Amino acid sequence: MFSFNRSVIAASLTLASLSAAAAQPPKHIIYLIGDGMATSHRQVAEYYLQQKTGDQTQRLAMNSLPVAGINTTHSADSLITDSAASATALAAGVKTNNGMVGMLPDGSKVTTLLEGAKAQGKATGLVTSTRLTHATPAAFVAKNIGRGNENAIADAYARANVTYVAGGGYRHFISGDQSKRQDGRNLVTDMQAADYHTFIGGDSVNNFRSYQPQAGDKVFAAFTPSHLPYELDRQQSNTLPSLAELTEKGIELLAKDQDGFFLMIEGGRIDHAAHANDIASTVYDTLAFDAAVQKALDFYHKNPNDTLIVVTGDHETGGMGMGFGKHYFMSLEQIQTSQESIEDKLQGVYSGNRGAFYQHIAGQFNLGNLASDEKLLIERAMDAVDNQDKQVGTDYGGYDPVAIAVAHVTSKRAGVYWTSYAHTATQLPLSAIGVQADKLGGFKDNTEVALTLADIMNVKIGKQG
Ligand SMILES: [Zn+2]
Repeated sequence: MFSFNRSVIAASLTLASLSAAAAQPPKHIIYLIGDGMATSHRQVAEYYLQQKTGDQTQRLAMNSLPVAGINTTHSADSLITDSAASATALAAGVKTNNGMVGMLPDGSKVTTLLEGAKAQGKATGLVTSTRLTHATPAAFVAKNIGRGNENAIADAYARANVTYVAGGGYRHFISGDQSKRQDGRNLVTDMQAADYHTFIGGDSVNNFRSYQPQAGDKVFAAFTPSHLPYELDRQQSNTLPSLAELTEKGIELLAKDQDGFFLMIEGGRIDHAAHANDIASTVYDTLAFDAAVQKALDFYHKNPNDTLIVVTGDHETGGMGMGFGKHYFMSLEQIQTSQESIEDKLQGVYSGNRGAFYQHIAGQFNLGNLASDEKLLIERAMDAVDNQDKQVGTDYGGYDPVAIAVAHVTSKRAGVYWTSYAHTATQLPLSAIGVQADKLGGFKDNTEVALTLADIMNVKIGKQG
């Protein structure tokens, strides 16, 4: 009888400690945001992976997480958000107007998840493949009425004391000829004075790669004047670190903090590729982002009891459709034969010499065998360029019409269609794994994602004061 009672007490104690353990906030939070990435981007990348490997069971790392949600993304002033308003929602749990970072529409400042984690003594990190001053990472540290005020956003980084910062865009941190800063200030020197290890420009890549993080270190790395290259172009030149490399180094450093860490990683160029309707770059940058998700998962598998990983997007870009016309097929070989990005490498290549251009795309995009309708699409764009036809030019989203015509040919060959050169209001998939991850599932607005995370982390976010 006595022993029976004891076991009942033991059992109830175990239950109590279990539920207490379940309510413990995760020590480590890794928040991955694919800019412009929605269901189609994720799925085409997965189908491409399966085709490339010849293994139909291959999954994206992010598509294999146990918790799934669907998120709406509208901003305070539009059903279609921009990255500034959506990042502010994901960082601080509030709706704001398109273009604003870290602020409510009335201009009052908000506290973010990163700032809340910092106040708890956690190490913090921001990683992106765009300029660090671009909207998504900016919303976690800066408060600005306009996302375009990137020098002021750089100032915010210099004050924010984030433990690990890595991406592109040093032009906003240093003054000079190649810079966007003309006030004579050098924020990199300021950060060095504040004990940052700094890695600036392509010449610093080797030092970055050999750098061994020590507890208490702070890192600021910006390898390019503007965005890091599209993954397709990065792989060709192979001189700059991948998003996964930046993520791995960041986790290595941040995990040395006894209080744990909060790390946000943005796959920023998925959005740019989709704006330019470039299917190959969209897929390659989604896969580069997924490789960063895998680095986060590798850490999770070593620390499953105190880690939370959340993967989401900020909005859909391109109105990307899988399939078009009256066809029931996708043919992703075309993605494999594209050698370069449309936006950074093909714009401006056509300058009146049609033969030279056709030769170029035969080599770089495997388009040596254009069908008559494909050729018509490209010729029409060439006519617009030759005639400097501004009216027709606007049909191509403000891009070089000929580059966009090629993007549409390669997309159609793959079986992909685009309805927009901008963002859409389409809902986003969210995936999560780890401590209290189940709370993030279900149908939520993007502000609820951040508010749920704040609740899980036990931090206060949103309007200050
Ligand atoms: Zn965008």
